[in-house]
Amino acid sequence: MNYYSLNKTAPTVNFREATIKGQAPDKGLYFPEKIPAIDPSVIENIESYSKEELAFLIMQPYVGDTIDPKTLYRIVAETINFPFPLVPINENIFSLELFHGPTLAFKDVGARFMSRCLGYFSQQQKGKVTVLVATSGDTGGAVANGFLGVEGVEVVILYPSGKVSAVQELQLTTCGQNITALEVNGSFDDCQAMVKDAFMDADLNQSLALTSANSINVARWLPQQLYYFFAYQQWKEKNHPPVIAVPSGNFGNICAGLLAHLSGLPVQHFIAACNVNDAVPEYLRSGTYQPKTAVPTISNAMDVGSPSNFIRVMELFRNEYASIKEKISGYTVSDAITKQTIAEVYQQDGYTLDPHGAVGYYALNQYLSKHPGQKGMILETAHPVKFPETVESMTGKKIEIPASVQYLFAKEKQSIQMDASFSQLKEWLLNQ
Ligand SMILES: *Cc1c(COP(=O)(O)O)cnc(C)c1O
Repeated sequence: MNYYSLNKTAPTVNFREATIKGQAPDKGLYFPEKIPAIDPSVIENIESYSKEELAFLIMQPYVGDTIDPKTLYRIVAETINFPFPLVPINENIFSLELFHGPTLAFKDVGARFMSRCLGYFSQQQKGKVTVLVATSGDTGGAVANGFLGVEGVEVVILYPSGKVSAVQELQLTTCGQNITALEVNGSFDDCQAMVKDAFMDADLNQSLALTSANSINVARWLPQQLYYFFAYQQWKEKNHPPVIAVPSGNFGNICAGLLAHLSGLPVQHFIAACNVNDAVPEYLRSGTYQPKTAVPTISNAMDVGSPSNFIRVMELFRNEYASIKEKISGYTVSDAITKQTIAEVYQQDGYTLDPHGAVGYYALNQYLSKHPGQKGMILETAHPVKFPETVESMTGKKIEIPASVQYLFAKEKQSIQMDASFSQLKEWLLNQ
């Protein structure tokens, strides 16, 4: 499998190069030349496959011969070595809990896969690879955890100061070793812009082998398909495929789901559930795409004004507005409604949603009320304990802190403060 740049002026590359580069030299995102078709008998007999077998089968065409089959099997098995339960909330809505990984958010899947691939590829490289990543909350922790101690890889994480939750901040600032956190006085979009500038800077690229661990990197983005298949394994009514609501920010997650669907996974409809940062729902309503400045919300991992993967969604549908609209509906959910949803779902069904899952739940519930007879699932993208103030004030119940978070509170935050300025970032990187 080769990957082309969506800006169409850079040469195509294989999986190895796309992973090491992150972004194409013409600033485009890499995109697979073909969408592999899953053998229909695999879908028909999906319950008879183990998670590992499925994961290998799905990732193999994307990786091609850049990783030998035995190593790839080990990598996918390690990537998904925690549960992905599909839990009923009520009669019509299920929650695919994606927060049982080490940093309690779905981004563990992409980060674990990418770190292992890059670790493998860097053994064949001379110098170190530097991973540069911007986080709106959960990416930082997942990437720090995934890459901690990986030989030959240095990780630099940029996060917006004061705009991530306490647990998120601890997860990305307390690792040490090959992980450094830069605390940027600005928004997530500022952090993302600084990272993008760094990839384009000739001086930096001469002295460092830079790559990205955001979902623009194919090794982060592509494995996110896997849990859509795991969800379908657990979906009882196979002849009524689910409506899937995806709490969306940078649109990597939903784009991976769409890819899975176009490969053959049955999905009735997709819902792009956004907070007030809703450039894509607005596009779905009006046909005009207008990136905005990000606004802070209580579902902070989705505070993205200019979602980088939207261009991949467009490519999947050959830029045809009508086809996109047929498969995806967009919803905008305010903080007030998000809170109210957390309270209501807890009272009615005894299920504790995190703010991102609550955005998904509200959107799905609205959609299902207009489409009677359909059922669906939300992707519960983070554990509620990552947002204890919001969630506890709405449910009135203390959230039990898992051991994987408890130990963080004894650790000390270590970050380097920086303005939202590319020249500061550049100077710092060159002096490492
Ligand atoms: C990153 C994140 C999202 C948004 O995912 P995208 O792939 O950026 O759309 C949603 N919820 C949580 C908890 C996240 O960490």
